[in-house]
Amino acid sequence: MSQYGQYIDSYYQATCHVLPLQPQLDTDIEADVCIIGGGLTGMNAAIELRKRGFDVVVLEAGRISWAASGRNGGQCLVGYCLGLREVDEVYGPQWGKQLWDLSCESVDIVRERIAEFNINCDFQHNYIELALKPSQEKELRSWLELKQTRYDYPHASWWDKAKIQEVTSSERYLGGLFDSNSGHLHPLNYTIGLARAAIDLGARVFEQSPAVKLEKGAVNVIKTEKGSVKAKQVLLACNAYLEGLDRKAQSTVLPVASYIAVTEQLGDRQPITNKMAMSDLNNCLDYFRPTADGRILFGGVNHPFNGEYADSEERLRQRMLKVFPHLDDVKMDFHWGGMFAVTREYMPQIDHLGDDVYVAHGYTGHGVGLANIAGRVVAEAMAGTAERFDVFARIKHKWIPTPQTLRTPALAMAIWKAQIEDSLSY
Ligand SMILES: Cc1cc2nc3c(=O)[nH]c(=O)nc-3n(C[C@H](O)[C@H](O)[C@H](O)COP(=O)(O)OP(=O)(O)OC[C@H]3O[C@@H](n4cnc5c(N)ncnc54)[C@H](O)[C@@H]3O)c2cc1C
Repeated sequence: MSQYGQYIDSYYQATCHVLPLQPQLDTDIEADVCIIGGGLTGMNAAIELRKRGFDVVVLEAGRISWAASGRNGGQCLVGYCLGLREVDEVYGPQWGKQLWDLSCESVDIVRERIAEFNINCDFQHNYIELALKPSQEKELRSWLELKQTRYDYPHASWWDKAKIQEVTSSERYLGGLFDSNSGHLHPLNYTIGLARAAIDLGARVFEQSPAVKLEKGAVNVIKTEKGSVKAKQVLLACNAYLEGLDRKAQSTVLPVASYIAVTEQLGDRQPITNKMAMSDLNNCLDYFRPTADGRILFGGVNHPFNGEYADSEERLRQRMLKVFPHLDDVKMDFHWGGMFAVTREYMPQIDHLGDDVYVAHGYTGHGVGLANIAGRVVAEAMAGTAERFDVFARIKHKWIPTPQTLRTPALAMAIWKAQIEDSLSY
């Protein structure tokens, strides 16, 4: 996987609404806020901060949305990687409800942004989370009960095996929790749309300008290879690519690779007839959805050392055939990989690190939605109202070692454990 650069070859790159290359920072400048990282988190924060009148600079190491935000599965979901029942148990009913409401606002923000800035990104409602075994069905049913009883959420319903088969032709699942409020989109075009909006609102965006050093103080100084930014407040929005800038922030997230393949156009053979996004409840899950031009985009496959299998495209194809066996003659037109950031709590870290330096990352596979609310609550906190920000900042995050020699075995152990749990049949 190449480090910082141009967009990788992908379905998204092949269908993107290109943003003209933004300048490289080659001088010393000042701003109220410097955002490091031009993905979904950084661009959302830039919009929210400009709306509050801050002078904003964004430094992006490669191109805008070059990393996870331009490569992901596009599933735009309410909730967290940590399951709803566990959120409720770990954080208690009141805090759990606040967290839930903020996750719902994430998806509301996506719809708002698309309408406000006229972003063409193929947004499509509907999503189903699928049970492969009885324990998963029990778990999903407990989430449905919570949504319907305590969470005032009118968009969820239970689909049995027959209904899933009727709509998708897949016989694989015991049942699923359907959600008409979540959905999916073209993440590269969405993030590029956000970048255009931020630039139109007056944010200064620099591409190919990696921050190489953060000197903290009363005024923070961020150095790039050819210039620098002096800024009172800083947001680290680098997610899985944070290396080197801040050890404290880096020590709560573990980068994990995931891979995606996209079929040729399927025409009237498209099995997902209602266009919903789908994923199963395994730890090393399959996630998939139809694209706007009638393909299937299928993601999954974890490598224990974040390496790439030589045959990752074929591995994804075989996983897709377990869901849709009748697509065995279909070829894959695209495949690629990317890194996302996982925390030990399966909850994001949206936090204040001291010295007016903030961090928002570690959405653990849920950043297409959650990065939107992260940008908003960080902007609120920078503007002096930290009430909603604190709902996230109060989450305690456990430490993950930063030296790669320790991270690699930690990741391998976590993935092998997850795969063993997935293989159990109850
Ligand atoms: C294959 C894959 C599939 C996924 N599928 C889904 C999904 O279906 N649904 C979902 O909700 N989430 C999914 N995710 C996760 C989701 O993509 C992320 O949570 C989200 O994009 C995070 O956005 P971000 O802006 O925080 O980080 P990123 O998009 O990773 O952006 C970080 C940016 O920071 C820049 N950067 C790093 N260091 C520096 C530096 N020193 N100076 C300047 N810039 C720097 C990087 O170049 C990068 O552009 C997936 C991720 C992957 C990789």
